[in-house]
Amino acid sequence: MKSEIIAVGSEMLTPWRQDTNSLYLTEKLNEIGVTVTFKTIVGDRKKDLVNAIRVAIGRTDILAIMGGLGPTEDDLTREAVAEALSLILRRDASMVAALHTRAAGWRVPLPPNNLKQAEVLEGALVLPNVNGSAPGQWLDTRFGGYRKIVLLIPGPPSECRPLFDAECLPRLREAIPKRFIASRTLRAAMIPESQADLFLAPIYSNFKDVETTILAHGGDIQLSLVCSKPSAALAKERVDELAGRLEEALEDWLYSSDGESLEQIVLFYLGLRQFTVAVAESCTGGMIAQRITSVPGSSRSFLGGAVVYADSLKYAFAGVSPELIAQHGAVSAEVAKALAHGIRLRTGATLGVGVTGIAGPTGGTEDKPVGLVYIAISDAEKNEATERTFRGDRTRIREFSTQQALDLIRRRLM
Ligand code: ATP
Ligand code: MG
Repeated sequence: MKSEIIAVGSEMLTPWRQDTNSLYLTEKLNEIGVTVTFKTIVGDRKKDLVNAIRVAIGRTDILAIMGGLGPTEDDLTREAVAEALSLILRRDASMVAALHTRAAGWRVPLPPNNLKQAEVLEGALVLPNVNGSAPGQWLDTRFGGYRKIVLLIPGPPSECRPLFDAECLPRLREAIPKRFIASRTLRAAMIPESQADLFLAPIYSNFKDVETTILAHGGDIQLSLVCSKPSAALAKERVDELAGRLEEALEDWLYSSDGESLEQIVLFYLGLRQFTVAVAESCTGGMIAQRITSVPGSSRSFLGGAVVYADSLKYAFAGVSPELIAQHGAVSAEVAKALAHGIRLRTGATLGVGVTGIAGPTGGTEDKPVGLVYIAISDAEKNEATERTFRGDRTRIREFSTQQALDLIRRRLM
């Protein structure tokens, strides 16, 4: 089953307002086995809206239109649907009465414009809106020889979402063939996205019935697998089969088979081994600590650390001698190792992490370019530094450095 969403409102064509309702609807539709194939945002102009509806209705089974159901001049959704589908609008007597009752409750006369909200498409069912005055509408009709379901839903998120849940979802469940959804999320760290797709695409493209999406950000790759089948067991079987193949191909880049974050996994292994960790961060400025402490219960394994930006603090908090810095430079494998070692000794942690690098945009040189980062992990047995050069702007370099550090901790623990 295919669906399509149209969000109506000129404000969502400005830089200041986003159509967030459609994300909510998409999630709910996916849960009942309906995919969203197009989303359109249309301003409050009738001609454009009629056009968008005509295009959408021809290629979808379910069309959800949100917004433009209010009482004002720019609320044109009802008229536009009527025109696009050649349907008559009639004024519903019980809705007129309901609008009068609502206005009476506020002790104001009903503005004449508000009666627009009592107009119903021929053949449509009125969907009560307990959080606002504009009701929704459910139209189960035929177009071009096919069954089409058209939903009119109010735009304000506080009305759209409860109305969709209470009035639309149960009716959609009834109307569409029963499907079961299974899903899995695999996550991997520090593979270049292009490289990942090169060896992953040949695998998942053989599973046409499992929808695979790849999201990449800051050295993290998230593969989400969704499959819809007439039985729950069948859907799960297909998702698990594809997940198994992908896990094998991802080797030790894979850190999570069920959506957990890298910091959650790191804490899981720290807990398992009863290890503690402390960090001395220069170019990441506390981002590693931030990610670890974002996980509830991290206090069991994370002792803390220091942001050691100035060389004097590298000495004061992690015991890195000025001579070592003078000899190798603050951004060097030696200083990263000294940071990791120093913070481990000072805090009594099992693992110490030291990070130093050039986040840019200035400060790079010929042999130490912007993006050069050293990350060291020290424990009682060894202290190793990893050198990486990340491309991109300051934010990206810091995000990648943080991700790399967490991944190195994970690898040390495995
Ligand atoms: P209604 O269908 O109830 O008449 P409307 O479009 O007339 O809705 P507006 O006054 O235009 O209502 O919008 C009310 C609020 O809801 C605005 O802040 C608007 O930005 C927000 N809104 C409308 N549509 C969406 C959407 N798709 N996603 C998020 N917010 C939305
Ligand atoms: Mg609007």
